[in-house]
Amino acid sequence: MQGCGHEARTANGVVPAARVARIAPFRVMEILNAARELERRGRHVVHFEVGESDFHPATPVVEAGVSALRSWRNGYTEPLGLSDLRETIARRYRHLGIDAQRIAVTSGVSAALNLLAQALVNPGDEVLVADPGYPCYSAFVETAGGRVRRLPVDANSGFQPTARQIDRAWSENTAGVILSSPSNPVGSLLGRDELAAICRQVAGKGFVIIDEIYQGLVYGDADPAFTALAVDDGCFVVNGFSKYYGMTGWRLGWIVAPAEMIDAIDRLAQNLYISPPAVSQHAALAALGNDALAIHEHRRDVFARRRDAMLSGLEALGLPAAQRPDGGFYVYTNIASTGLGTEQFCRRLLHEYGVAATPGTDFGQHRAECHARFSFTVDETQIALGMERLEAALAAFRRRP
Ligand code: PLP
Repeated sequence: MQGCGHEARTANGVVPAARVARIAPFRVMEILNAARELERRGRHVVHFEVGESDFHPATPVVEAGVSALRSWRNGYTEPLGLSDLRETIARRYRHLGIDAQRIAVTSGVSAALNLLAQALVNPGDEVLVADPGYPCYSAFVETAGGRVRRLPVDANSGFQPTARQIDRAWSENTAGVILSSPSNPVGSLLGRDELAAICRQVAGKGFVIIDEIYQGLVYGDADPAFTALAVDDGCFVVNGFSKYYGMTGWRLGWIVAPAEMIDAIDRLAQNLYISPPAVSQHAALAALGNDALAIHEHRRDVFARRRDAMLSGLEALGLPAAQRPDGGFYVYTNIASTGLGTEQFCRRLLHEYGVAATPGTDFGQHRAECHARFSFTVDETQIALGMERLEAALAAFRRRP
């Protein structure tokens, strides 16, 4: 794990706690800030870096939020969330008979993962995660006193850890594993059989957390409603409103946990942040309604077309996807042919050509240097413009890296 280097010191000699040194910066935010700074100076930037839909929240969601504000439904709620919302979320899993008591509404999937790390990880514990994978998993584990162990994944296993790999990596210190499907940055899905094998493998020894934040955003034949709970009722599922529902700033997510763990999660939520945001919860009820669903389903079709445009554009430029994404809104791209390391590639692409992308090193270490992530969260005109700029950049980089 890369630290932040020199720690700050206040005029009074106060320094950040030691654990902060183990938290790497989330580089995509740095790229986003650099891109915004360029825009402030009048440059146009094509945004392929950020994992945030360009669609505004659906109208029924906004109206429900405004109505909650106008009727002053904006105080603290129950720490585990409004009971209506917990029940509505539970109905999404009704075919599996999930009780609303097993749902905890949280301030985003980030808070869901933080609560689970605090609830499940003891100091010195090891937690297995995929490499490449979502960078913040390690921060949640580290701040709970644990360590992540990265499992290198590649095209041979569909960019997902296998049961065999988990078995081999498991040690007496291992507490559990965090998986994601669809994954970030690759958009790969965990196969039902492999997932079942992983859950069998881990049962009785530790926990399985599955991050399903990109649920619903799947393309082709993949089942948009698939959940790991259909495979193993004992795993911990996290999900949220940031991606399919396009509600990033509303900061809302949820956990489906085994019933026995809800009390621990409740106590942590009460103490760590009291309750998830009230207005967002009222809006989320509308997000799960039929009117909003029709809008979100239409958007999924738009993302599918953008994915195809992005994939063929990159491929034509000699930048093949590490794997065709089946879900999410990213293409994890092999940039080895540019002759540049990923951070230099992304820096030069942004500053010299006005295209922001995320360096592979944001997602781990395994072959990170020769990959970058391109998000298709902008419209097809921007994708075409980005490809034109990339073409010019590649001609220059390949001539003289
Ligand atoms: N999990 C994954 C895999 C993500 O990609 C992200 C955001 O990009 C998050 C969690 C954070 O989600 P939230 O906005 O709900 O905190």
